[in-house]
Amino acid sequence: MFGLQELLLNVLFLIIFLLFIPVILELNFSKLSQQNKTVIFNLSTVLAIICCLLNPIKIVDGYIFDLRLAALTFGGLYGGIRSIVILGVVTITSRALLGGLGAFATVIVVTILALLLIFTTKKFNHSSGKKKVLLATLVSSFASVLAISNSTLFFGQSIQPAFIFIYILITITITALLIYLYEVFQGSILLNKQLIKIEKMEVVSHLASSVSHEVRNPLTVTRGFLQLMLHSDLSASKREEYLKISIDEIDRANDIIKDYLTFAKPTPENVTVLNIKEELQRILHVITPLANMNGVEVETKFSEFYAKGNQQYFQQCLLNIVKNCIEAMPNAGKLTLELKSEKKNLIIVISDNGEGMSKEQLARLGEPYFTTKGKDGTGLGMMVSMKIIDSMGGKLNVNSELNVGTNFYITLPSVK
Ligand code: ADP
Ligand code: MG
Repeated sequence: MFGLQELLLNVLFLIIFLLFIPVILELNFSKLSQQNKTVIFNLSTVLAIICCLLNPIKIVDGYIFDLRLAALTFGGLYGGIRSIVILGVVTITSRALLGGLGAFATVIVVTILALLLIFTTKKFNHSSGKKKVLLATLVSSFASVLAISNSTLFFGQSIQPAFIFIYILITITITALLIYLYEVFQGSILLNKQLIKIEKMEVVSHLASSVSHEVRNPLTVTRGFLQLMLHSDLSASKREEYLKISIDEIDRANDIIKDYLTFAKPTPENVTVLNIKEELQRILHVITPLANMNGVEVETKFSEFYAKGNQQYFQQCLLNIVKNCIEAMPNAGKLTLELKSEKKNLIIVISDNGEGMSKEQLARLGEPYFTTKGKDGTGLGMMVSMKIIDSMGGKLNVNSELNVGTNFYITLPSVK
């Protein structure tokens, strides 16, 4: 069998440089500018051409065959006119450096192929996936027939018919297959991106409706009291009372908006070093009435540790978790708060012995609008908490068992 090993090597180069690298590029480097992407794409195709050239399938002295035309076709069709010129020049020069009669043949073949590519690239890039494969098949059929007839007719090479057949077949198949796979990968990457975008849009629209819903209540109340104040027969003390209520309600609306904006902002402002022990004590102070109401006993074990964060956000984060714990123990129970350290981190453990969560519920924890509390729940608390922990460079681990209880482990990088 003629150079099967070289042939497989050629195919491998094409897969690495034409499929693998461009797909990785698309997947992981979305921040790269289009211009840089094009440069890398061209460079990758150049490498494919050179690697193919350096591992040729020799048939007669001075004459080599390889899959460089497949790479040239692929790179030219996707890359456009500039890529075609670059790739054409690279192919001709590198082939010329290797010497032999075939170098002249290459000049002719590559020039004609480049012209054909220049005429097809625009149409190619505006076509659907199927049409692209078809166009590429046509172009590569032309290229391989051209290469073979050029060397037999003008350069008088006698090449076995079997080889001619195999060469043409392989060039066409590989080119079509590469384009097909590239389209499939690109398609799924695009789909994935669109899905993420749709998901984000959905979160935003849900958020918008929640905000307007929750802000409307205090606004309605405020409006009612302001309207009452229009009556002139109101006593001064009543007037003052109504004003106070109005101001309170406006403050509440403001707070709600601020809370919802927590996850719109990537990094919170006003980051300071927080005394975590004090922060926990402050939370305890806030939730004691609620705990008493539910007959929940609170146990604490604090050591002194510090971490960086925005105090208001951090309070919100702890409050959401602790409130969930108390709500999970409607008929008495025990809430435990512990602050300890592990290596360079501090760990806050918040535990309850309440109703717990099933595996499915646990998996959905933190998903926007996931709540088991019906009308009483918003399903936003855990999402906000997780986002805040994340912004502090921390991690949240949760384990839970139905009817046994839930443990929250907040790990944060501790500072001196
Ligand atoms: P909400 O409290 O408004 O329902 P959260 O995002 O705070 O929204 O919590 C989402 C859901 O996670 C809750 O409805 C509840 O089912 C579950 N959950 C959270 N914390 C606990 C806990 N400590 N014990 C049991 N279930 C919990
Ligand atoms: Mg909650």
